[in-house]
Amino acid sequence: MVLVCLSLIAVDAWRSWNARESELQEMNVATSNLAQGMAQQANDTLKLADSILFGMVERIEYDGVTPLGLQRLHQYLVDRVAQSPQFNGIHFFDENGVWRAGSRAQALPHKNNLDREYFVFHRSHTDLGLHIGSPLVSRISGNWVIPLSRRVNHPDGSFAGVAVIAMDIAYFTQFYDKLNIGQAGSLALVLDNGTLLIRRPYNNNSVGRNVVSTDLYRAFKRNNNAGTLLITSSVDGVTRLNSYRSLYNYPLFAVAALSKNEILADWWRDTLLHTGGVVILVLILAVAGTRLVRQIELRTKTENELILARDALEKLNHTLEKLATLDGLTSLANRRKFDACLAAEFNRAVRDSSMLALVMIDVDQFKEYNDIYGHPAGDECLRTISQIIRDLLKNREQSLAARYGGEELVVLLPGANLAETRVLAEQIRLAIQQRGIAHSARPNGVVTVSIGVASSIPVRGMNLPGELVETADQALYAAKSAGRNRVCSAE
Ligand code: GH3
Ligand code: MG
Ligand code: MG
Repeated sequence: MVLVCLSLIAVDAWRSWNARESELQEMNVATSNLAQGMAQQANDTLKLADSILFGMVERIEYDGVTPLGLQRLHQYLVDRVAQSPQFNGIHFFDENGVWRAGSRAQALPHKNNLDREYFVFHRSHTDLGLHIGSPLVSRISGNWVIPLSRRVNHPDGSFAGVAVIAMDIAYFTQFYDKLNIGQAGSLALVLDNGTLLIRRPYNNNSVGRNVVSTDLYRAFKRNNNAGTLLITSSVDGVTRLNSYRSLYNYPLFAVAALSKNEILADWWRDTLLHTGGVVILVLILAVAGTRLVRQIELRTKTENELILARDALEKLNHTLEKLATLDGLTSLANRRKFDACLAAEFNRAVRDSSMLALVMIDVDQFKEYNDIYGHPAGDECLRTISQIIRDLLKNREQSLAARYGGEELVVLLPGANLAETRVLAEQIRLAIQQRGIAHSARPNGVVTVSIGVASSIPVRGMNLPGELVETADQALYAAKSAGRNRVCSAE
């Protein structure tokens, strides 16, 4: 029963653990896909901005900064922005940082971006590629934007200014808001140098923050293509499954993070339900099992008790059987036993043609003994005589001494002839006399017995068991008549 309970628990625990693993595995795939989608979207947006900037720089370098050229440029930029709402504005600043052309309907001749990081960068770098700046608040629109810029050269290769697209952060946050990341999930777009560009949940303080000291950034540095890892946030204490992925063409990476607790919420509910079920099942099994074991124990105990009772009863029966064949006073065989034995031995003697002898003993003047010494003394006297007879028969296993009735005792001797029976009878008589039990009414002052002896080989159809008794009785009568305290035999 214990084994069944343990197996149940083990199987459920194993199942739950597997379910948890597969849940996490699924979420691993989900966060990777999310990061992949984000990287793709960012990459496409940057690519579009890059190609617009490329066309713009080409125009400026080809047309020159002439009124007509700037006019054509303005129209070009108005069209681009109309088609691409993710771009807040597109502008050209000359080598002095002075605004020269843009996507807005009205001119902004007083705007000067000499101090902007991207301006300083391009002025000091001859590199013509796309530059992605840190997020800032646009002086033109007042929105949070990410400046994407390219350097413009004079025909001689010297610095002629900067073409810049203000990419609207709101465009990204709106896109990120549409993604289902639960309550505690987060999304981010980060520059390879560790500058945080956009983050959901959105927070002004987090924009432009440096994240080089985070575990995630370190993981990105180790393997800067893609990866997934579990990180417990030092800010809110939430453990999240983080997936990052680099953009194909630009030095950025996207991060999607989902809360581990939220990922495992369903699993927890399922597991709790299962565990509850298993606990109830185990409890039922335990209770039923305990009762079953107790019943088995009870049954075994009852069976043992029954066996003991049966043994006791058998023993008692045996004793009763023995008692039923014994005489209560003398402990010799009783009359019933004697009759049965006589019949059996008679048949045997007939069958074997063997001798069967009988000794009949009667206490002399016992009535007077009782009268003189009292009945209890008479009983004691009978017991003593019985013991003497028993002692004398000790070595005759075939013999049977019995109380025939009153103060008359008999001894059955299978196989004994008359002569040896007489010898035994004489031994009995003498032994009793020599015991010297006082009897004042007797001539010699002690208890004596008269004995009649008979022995014959009985013949079937001619003799009966009763004849032997009768013969012995007649011999006894003869002994009494002859003066008592003697042995008489009948031929
Ligand atoms: P005798 O045989 O010598 O002719 O004389 P008796 O006195 O023995 O004669 P009888 O056989 O008539 O008397 C037998 C007496 O034995 C009668 C009875 O009181 C006594 N008796 C018989 N059975 C018991 C017994 O179990 N206990 C005692 N105390 N006395 C018994
Ligand atoms: Mg008698
Ligand atoms: Mg007598």
